[in-house]
Amino acid sequence: MTANSQPSMTANTPSTKCSTVYIVVPCYNEQEVLPETSKRLKEKVNQLISQGKLTNKSRIVFVDDGSRDNTWNMIAALHEEDPLFSGLKLSRNRGHQNAVLAGLLTCKEYADAVISMDADLQDDINAIDAFIDEFHSGHDIVYGVRSKRETDTAFKRLTAEGFYKIMQKFGVDIIDNHADYRLMSRRALDALAEYKEVNLFLRGIVPLIGYPYAIVKYERAERFAGESKYPLKKMLALAFDGITSFSVKPIKMVTALGVTITVLSVLALLYCLVAAFIPAIGVPNLVIVGCIFLSCGLIISSLGLIGSYIGKIYGEVKARPRFFVEDLLLK
Ligand code: UDP
Ligand code: MG
Repeated sequence: MTANSQPSMTANTPSTKCSTVYIVVPCYNEQEVLPETSKRLKEKVNQLISQGKLTNKSRIVFVDDGSRDNTWNMIAALHEEDPLFSGLKLSRNRGHQNAVLAGLLTCKEYADAVISMDADLQDDINAIDAFIDEFHSGHDIVYGVRSKRETDTAFKRLTAEGFYKIMQKFGVDIIDNHADYRLMSRRALDALAEYKEVNLFLRGIVPLIGYPYAIVKYERAERFAGESKYPLKKMLALAFDGITSFSVKPIKMVTALGVTITVLSVLALLYCLVAAFIPAIGVPNLVIVGCIFLSCGLIISSLGLIGSYIGKIYGEVKARPRFFVEDLLLK
């Protein structure tokens, strides 16, 4: 954290600044966790209001990403009961990244800053105090970074750490161990709104914005209830999307691979030519068959990789809308 983050003193020393902050929580079939998440978030926001750090215009906005369970009814009931809770209903399931974006872009019109966090209480709510302090000390973006991954399974830990390493090797500027738990000021959100891409990978876009930022470390908890909505297949798709949306290194690697194979093939050809004139050796069939299969495999997979970039360009050229808001409950 930076030297000028003065307001983070004791809990009962009121911060000199007071802002309207919206907390955006994407929800996809989250009926099991909503009662507890809403209770804990309400306590936190009310505590920050009483400390004078947040205005009473601050809101908790649950974004319903086309849930098929009782999530939206629960959000509507929470809003009826207490205007602190707001609801944003998307017209259908658009995936976590689009749900977060919908929340951020809608709320930036009303708030000085917006925090995004998951619904399942894996993101530590107590880190919000430090987020607000860093915001009040002049940081436009505050990244929540996991200090430990002990609650993750060994497999998730391994794949996630590998993911950050690979991304950085491919030249994508992302913050280590940061998911989508972050605060963004209104001007950072205005900048985010300028990025029109359909293949959305917020973790890659936000660092591109620039503006002063701070990092707040927190311990990631286990999902409070319900099941993960990010199975391995979706996680791999997000990782692939992240790399191909921010780096053309894979295509360059394919070119390098092609050159290497050409050189090796010329050597193999020379060897075969020489061997053909030496009856004791002859042309080894296995080598020829192996070479053919290897080059076919490499050519097809390289075409597949290039094809996936073309597919992305196709998506970007069409520039279809990323989400539609069906309902907004905001008082
Ligand atoms: N989520 C969403 N739309 C989806 C999938 C997930 O809005 O299509 C939300 C989900 O409700 C949760 C957050 O994204 O608040 C992260 O999902 P999850 O906790 O299932 O992912 P994990 O933590 O297991 O990676
Ligand atoms: Mg989770």
